[in-house]
Amino acid sequence: MPFSFHSHSAQFCKHASGGPLAEVVEEARCAGFLQFGLSEHMPRQQVDLLYEEEIDAGMSCDDLAKQFSDFVAEARRLQKIFDDARCSHNDGDDGGMEILVGAETEYVGPQSIGEILQLRHDYKLDYIVGSIHHVRGKPIDFSKETFEQLLANDWNNDHTSLFSAYFDEQFALFDGVHPEVAGHLDVVRKYCPGAAFSATVLEKVRRNIKFCVDHGILLEINSSGVGKGLPHPYPQQDVLTIAKELGARFTLGDDAHSPVDVAQYYSHIRQYVHDMAIESSICSLHRTSSCHNQPADAMHECRQDQQQRAAQDYSFSAVESRPVPDFLHHHFWSRSPVYELAV
Ligand SMILES: [Zn+2]
Ligand SMILES: [Zn+2]
Repeated sequence: MPFSFHSHSAQFCKHASGGPLAEVVEEARCAGFLQFGLSEHMPRQQVDLLYEEEIDAGMSCDDLAKQFSDFVAEARRLQKIFDDARCSHNDGDDGGMEILVGAETEYVGPQSIGEILQLRHDYKLDYIVGSIHHVRGKPIDFSKETFEQLLANDWNNDHTSLFSAYFDEQFALFDGVHPEVAGHLDVVRKYCPGAAFSATVLEKVRRNIKFCVDHGILLEINSSGVGKGLPHPYPQQDVLTIAKELGARFTLGDDAHSPVDVAQYYSHIRQYVHDMAIESSICSLHRTSSCHNQPADAMHECRQDQQQRAAQDYSFSAVESRPVPDFLHHHFWSRSPVYELAV
């Protein structure tokens, strides 16, 4: 504690920067994280979904698939190093950082559901961050320019219709995949922070959050929005207020795209959690088969059982969420004066 379950690296993501995945992980360890989730973007399977920088690099969809496969191999290697260190240590909290290996989703239509479930099954991913970066197959968070073109050309500058479609696609994703984490819930307003959600849109937000509450999906408080000019981490106050009312549980993500992004704007997260009075609803994720959670024999059996179940049941989760007691007063926050609360 604290922790982030959302990260990327330039080694396996063309729009990330800085050093390789191992460096991102090392930065997280130095930052004092006790759980760190590696959630590289799932490979997109349509050529028209390649981003500019991927086209410039001459990449194909097969290359994206290979890149993801390489990501999992490297992520598991790093996970094992940290597991071994923790297993040789007796005391949970001080034994070092736990690494989780997952993926962040894309959703471009119903076909995405099968792709995500297959990916989860093939790689036995620990967890999934359920995110939407497209509406009707077109990117909404790539750049301000592409967002504004999309809004004008495809939506006649009608924010409400675009927002509605976004939350409908998000619902389809949640319903089809049951991700462990709902990623940056309201990223659709990244490039239009002043646009309010209408009553119709807020109803859809409410429906989606209710689904998360009913199915144990944690809502991510994602600090990357602050660096993009938003007043708060995702989700913004109106959405977070609804989530709180509905009894949602939350987790954290820095959405690092570079080693220097690790723990970015966590002072804002602490302040936001404090100001919104959601401290008691903050949770972290833990692998159910990690050595600190199971005796050695049971761990082996658990892994076998897990693999058998994963082969039959796509919705099987290899992690569990746990509330974080006294989140706001964890010793992590005393590491730097930047984390001090403004009162
Ligand atoms: Zn994302
Ligand atoms: Zn991300």
